Amino acid sequence: MTAIRVAIAGSTGSIGTQTLDVVRAEAGSYEIVGLGVGSSIDALIAQALEFRPKVVAVADPSKRAAVAAALPFVEVIGELAELAADADVVVNAVVGFAGLPVTISTLRAGKRLALANKESLIAAGPVVQPLRLLPGAELVPVDSEHCAVHQCLRSSNRPSSEVARVVLTASGGPFRGRTAAELADVGVEQALAHPTWKMGPKITIDSSTLMNKGLEVIEAHELFGTPYDQIEVVVHPQSIIHSMVEFTDGAMIAQLSMPDMRLPIGYALAYPDRIGTPFGRIDWATLSRLDFEAPDLDTFRCLHLAYAAGRVGGSAPAWLSAANEEAVDAFLAGRIRWTQIAEICDAVLQQHAETSDTSVMSVEDIVAADATARRAAQKELAR
Ligand code: MG
Repeated sequence: MTAIRVAIAGSTGSIGTQTLDVVRAEAGSYEIVGLGVGSSIDALIAQALEFRPKVVAVADPSKRAAVAAALPFVEVIGELAELAADADVVVNAVVGFAGLPVTISTLRAGKRLALANKESLIAAGPVVQPLRLLPGAELVPVDSEHCAVHQCLRSSNRPSSEVARVVLTASGGPFRGRTAAELADVGVEQALAHPTWKMGPKITIDSSTLMNKGLEVIEAHELFGTPYDQIEVVVHPQSIIHSMVEFTDGAMIAQLSMPDMRLPIGYALAYPDRIGTPFGRIDWATLSRLDFEAPDLDTFRCLHLAYAAGRVGGSAPAWLSAANEEAVDAFLAGRIRWTQIAEICDAVLQQHAETSDTSVMSVEDIVAADATARRAAQKELAR
C-alpha cells in the first residue's frame, strides 16, 4: 500500500502539530510532502528535519532565506496555497480568513481538503460550494462536531431527505452558567482557560463567547446543506458527545469519544477507512454522567448573531467572521472587554444590513467584503 501524501497548511499550530502526532502514530500510512507556516520558522524547521517534506511554504518573505539555509534538501515557497500540488490531502489548519486561498486551491486541484479552517467555508460558502463538485475535490471536516455529524450521516442511505435535525454540542466554555453582568470584567487568561479542549487562542476565545458554536452552525449549514431551522445547539459540558443527528423516524445517532482533536484529524485523513490508533478511550466505569442544557442566548449573544448572519446569507457570514476576528484580536491585546466582542459584531452586522450589495459571486467579492467588515470593526473599536 502506498502512503497517502499529506500537506499541512499551518503545521506549527495546535491542529498542525496534532496532525503530525497522527502521522507518527500511523507509521507507513502517511507521507508528509508539504508543510506551511506564517512565520513560526523554528518549529517548522524542526518538523521538516523530522518529516523530510518535498516543499515548505513560508508566508513571511523575510524568513524564507533562513529556512532555505537550514533546509537545503527542501524547496521553499511563499504561497501556502501551492502545497496542494504534490499532496493527496491538504490539512488546512491556518487560523482565520487567511486560510481561504488554501481551501480554494485544494478543491480546485481536485484534492481532499481536511478542513480545520472553518472561517474560509463560513465567509466564502457561495464560492467554495461549486468547487466541491470538481472531480476529485472532497471536503472532510476537521471540527469535532462536524466530524461527528459526518459519521452520524453515514447511518442513512438518503441523508438529504432523512435528516430531521442536526444537534451540535457545545461545552459551554469557561463561562458557562455565568451572567453577562458577572462577565463584564473577565480577563484574557480566564477566557483562555477552556475546561475540556486545549486549542489555539482564537478558537478558545470564540468558545468562551459561543461565537465558535455560532460559526459552527453556519459551517454545518454549508457542509451538509441542513436548513438553519433544523440545526440546534445544546450545551454538554463533558464534551463526550461531539454532536448528533436525528432522522425522520425519530432515531438519534450520536458520536461519542474523549475530547481529542486527533480523532477528527485521523478521520479526515483516513476516510472512508479508520485509523488504527485510539487517542483516548471512554472508561464507562468513571464516566458517571452526561449533562445537557439549553444555551443562554442573553449572555452569549454571539450564538444568536451567527444564526442571524447565516440566515441572511450572501456576504453576511463573511462580515460577521471578519468583525469577530478583529474583536478577538482587540480582546487578546487588552483593548476591549470580553462583553464588547459581541457588541462589535452586532454593530458591524447592523451596518451590513444597511449596505446595498450583499451578494457574493467571486473570491474578489469575498475579499472585498472581508476588508469592508474589518474597516467597520476597526471604526467600532476606535469609538
Ligand atoms: Mg468544534
